[in-house]
Amino acid sequence: MSGLEFPHAAPPVGGWVALVPGVRWLRLPVPGGLRHINVWLLEDGPGWTLVDTGMDVPAARAAWDGAVGAALEGRAVTRIVCTHHHPDHAGLAAWLAERHGAPVYMSEPEAMLLRDLRATELDPALAAARLAGFEAAGLAITPELESVLSLRNYRRIVSGVPADLRILADGEVLAAGSRRWQVRLVAGHTDGQALLYSADSALLIAGDQVLPRISSNVGLYPERRDPDPVGSFLGSFVGLAALEPEPLVLPSHGDVFHGLRLRLGQLAAHHASTLAEVERLAEAPLTAAALAKRLFRPDLDALNRMLAVGEAHAHLHHLALHGRLRVLEAPGEPRRYASA
Ligand SMILES: [Zn+2]
Repeated sequence: MSGLEFPHAAPPVGGWVALVPGVRWLRLPVPGGLRHINVWLLEDGPGWTLVDTGMDVPAARAAWDGAVGAALEGRAVTRIVCTHHHPDHAGLAAWLAERHGAPVYMSEPEAMLLRDLRATELDPALAAARLAGFEAAGLAITPELESVLSLRNYRRIVSGVPADLRILADGEVLAAGSRRWQVRLVAGHTDGQALLYSADSALLIAGDQVLPRISSNVGLYPERRDPDPVGSFLGSFVGLAALEPEPLVLPSHGDVFHGLRLRLGQLAAHHASTLAEVERLAEAPLTAAALAKRLFRPDLDALNRMLAVGEAHAHLHHLALHGRLRVLEAPGEPRRYASA
């Protein structure tokens, strides 16, 4: 259907398979619609570099204690890389780091987001600013939404801020065994997702930036520093499409696939058509929350409603930054967008 090729059988949820020598594909359970996350083990001398960790939920901890942990074959994790701060990626980082005595590597923007989101527990002003940001987008804050927006939920499924948290720089090369992986920081889905590209092996650990079946959330959120997530997301495709040789893609959700450039084209077309639709709908001025109801199913749960409003807001804001919409603001009123 998509024209992509899936050359490997996926591991079972809670299991693993060898992908190429020294690279293992592990799959951990995630509650809700995603159902699983892929994480990657890179053979690294006597131990392993682990890329992403799973969410801190009992089923994922049990998988590490059981069939997924068996992939380590009794060797230690000596380095953990988190592609980004989302709970399914970084949730078990502090727990695994403590267990193995391993440092955790993230980009600077992602380390800041992890610290900020965990810190809302200690700093009510941060949580209040986040709620105010969603109110300005036109979202009526119900008690159910408040629990998601205040990040009580995030703190419950993220095991902590790792004690030994180190920063990854764009372009840096990580050696793991005989393979070399270049760090490529990309924004859009979040502020500084770290992808790993091995030109020698033609492999790309793609995080949530390029998924085979779904388009990842590209949203505007109060805690983010990137002013134009849609522009950043589409802008990242230029560098990814230029990767030579074109790599096998190791995505965080769905199966390993060939066809990176084809998939980038499909995702770019998806966002172009969303932008055109948003421009048409904004002929009658509307808030991000009102737009989200037009673009997405109306019966979403609290988390997905938050993501839908973030995604709608990011597209409205992108059009405003490019002069295709204008922003209508009045004191005490939610922000609305209208035809320029
Ligand atoms: Zn993510």
